[in-house]
Amino acid sequence: MQQNNLLGRNLVDSDSKPPIEYILSFNQVGQHLIDVTLSFTARSQQELWLPVWVPGSYLIREFSRHVSTPTATTSTSRQISIEKITKNRWRLDCHDGEKVVVHYQVYAFDLSVRGAYLDHTRAYANPACVCLAVAGQENVSTLLTIQSGQVFARLPIACSLRPYSAALINETNSTYQFIAHDYDELIDHPFEIAEQSLASFDVLGIEHKIAISGRHRTNMPRLLTDLEKICRYEIEFFGKAPFQDYLFMVMATGSSYGGLEHQNCTSLITPREDLPHANEPVQPASAYRRFLGLCSHEYFHSWLVKFIRPQEFAVLDLEREVYTRMLWVFEGFTSYYDDLILYRSGVIDRSAYLELLAEQITRYQQNAGRAHQSLSDSSFDAWIKYYRPDENSQNATTSYYNKGALIGLCLDLTLRARGSSLDALMRELYKLAQQGQYLTAHTIPDLCEKLVGERLTDFWQNYVDGTTQLPLEEMLSAVGVQTIVEQKVWPLGLKTTETSHGLTIQQVLRDSVGAKAGLSAHDVLIAIDGIRATTALLGQWADSAGFNANACSKAGNSLTCHAFRRDELMVFQLQPVASIMQTVRLSIANPEQLTDWLAPVNPI
Ligand SMILES: [Zn+2]
Repeated sequence: MQQNNLLGRNLVDSDSKPPIEYILSFNQVGQHLIDVTLSFTARSQQELWLPVWVPGSYLIREFSRHVSTPTATTSTSRQISIEKITKNRWRLDCHDGEKVVVHYQVYAFDLSVRGAYLDHTRAYANPACVCLAVAGQENVSTLLTIQSGQVFARLPIACSLRPYSAALINETNSTYQFIAHDYDELIDHPFEIAEQSLASFDVLGIEHKIAISGRHRTNMPRLLTDLEKICRYEIEFFGKAPFQDYLFMVMATGSSYGGLEHQNCTSLITPREDLPHANEPVQPASAYRRFLGLCSHEYFHSWLVKFIRPQEFAVLDLEREVYTRMLWVFEGFTSYYDDLILYRSGVIDRSAYLELLAEQITRYQQNAGRAHQSLSDSSFDAWIKYYRPDENSQNATTSYYNKGALIGLCLDLTLRARGSSLDALMRELYKLAQQGQYLTAHTIPDLCEKLVGERLTDFWQNYVDGTTQLPLEEMLSAVGVQTIVEQKVWPLGLKTTETSHGLTIQQVLRDSVGAKAGLSAHDVLIAIDGIRATTALLGQWADSAGFNANACSKAGNSLTCHAFRRDELMVFQLQPVASIMQTVRLSIANPEQLTDWLAPVNPI
């Protein structure tokens, strides 16, 4: 463990101040307003712009909606008029070579890892939400000056940007300065000022730090032990780290969850219950296992997506959607490895890993949308579908995380059956990236051909570009893992929650009797066959034959349901047929058949 006040890389010796400077001040915590001063040398009719999305999270977020109207002056105090020309762009009426100072405020009250947040407990920001880019000067080096103000005086700052200069870092009045080579580097480094539990650990000579804010009672020694194993495994897996130091930024809350990858850090938000307890068992509880999986996932992204990137991400246009059909590789393979690495690094045992894999398979089996959207389409439409889930998502879409992870498994087992592995393919991808190459649609089939002598054309056509059911049971059986399928019943194809008003329908399964009769998500079912609707009553219609003889319907085999849609009472007639959902468990059937894929791991 280590107590220090600055989480950053080595100081930069710099003779000249970078041409662009952002000064962020946090004096208006009650109103959640960050004051920003931006100084630079302008070009004629200089434009400023703010990203509309943040790398790693594929949704147009319109960060500029929280930016106040900027004002600008020159060094000679001449007021410069500013015209807003698009939703996220401003044009300054200035001359070439003029020194310009721009002021504006940003409303910051988004607790997520993609936004900015300011109150009396915490100042946090992704610079993509806060720092207006100077158009045409995005490649210019930038100074980020953070004046924490009285509320945060003497509190630590977590940031993995390089501190600018020792002389300018003054902890007594809490001003910190960091340098970024360009705008892309600037926005890849969130920072946080708050009460933090700080610790550091070394992994193969690389310094790793962790800063945990929020209310929590983390068993820090246990967390460091497990994280060190995971990080060491991942660096050794690829052979080299694409960073010189690494920072885990963690915010503990009641129930929020999420993570965002950056090149040499990750920002995580987690339920405090997921952090290891003082008496955490040797085999992590499922909550802590989830947190370790999140760390493993975001850390893996330092290689896969931050360093190994699709061609479409070579130069990111942050003002509009950037489409790729390969998120199933970047998010899917990362999701495959995040849990597998917990096992391989010795943090969880094999039965715990099989439990996680079974959960992944169950999610896939219960997703009716898998028959209607391919992985490739799911990746492409992330902007409008995955990131905008609604009551129909389960019926119409497939997740490139979930199915992508299982494609990772299927490809791994396919390659292993032919003498290679997904591990080998990942290392080849890393090699290509080190040579400056990006992934295209041909890269992975080409590499498979190189590794096993086949392009695996059917595999891509059926499982990535098509919606053919994944042959999971068959493939797992071939490596000695038995799939045990259990059936779970959705009465009438409905998933509901009971309230004092009745049964609120959360989801109606596609093609079920409920869907065909017209029952819809958000309807409140109040009576079934003339009796007040309860979970227990609905359950009577849950036998797989579809009809419970004890629950006699007045209309023969047809069932009458009354439900409110908004404030209007509606009547639905339907045949009482239940829908079957599969739940999966996995067990080792033939230990002698197990390949390297699940070979015993000696805890490190
Ligand atoms: Zn991810």
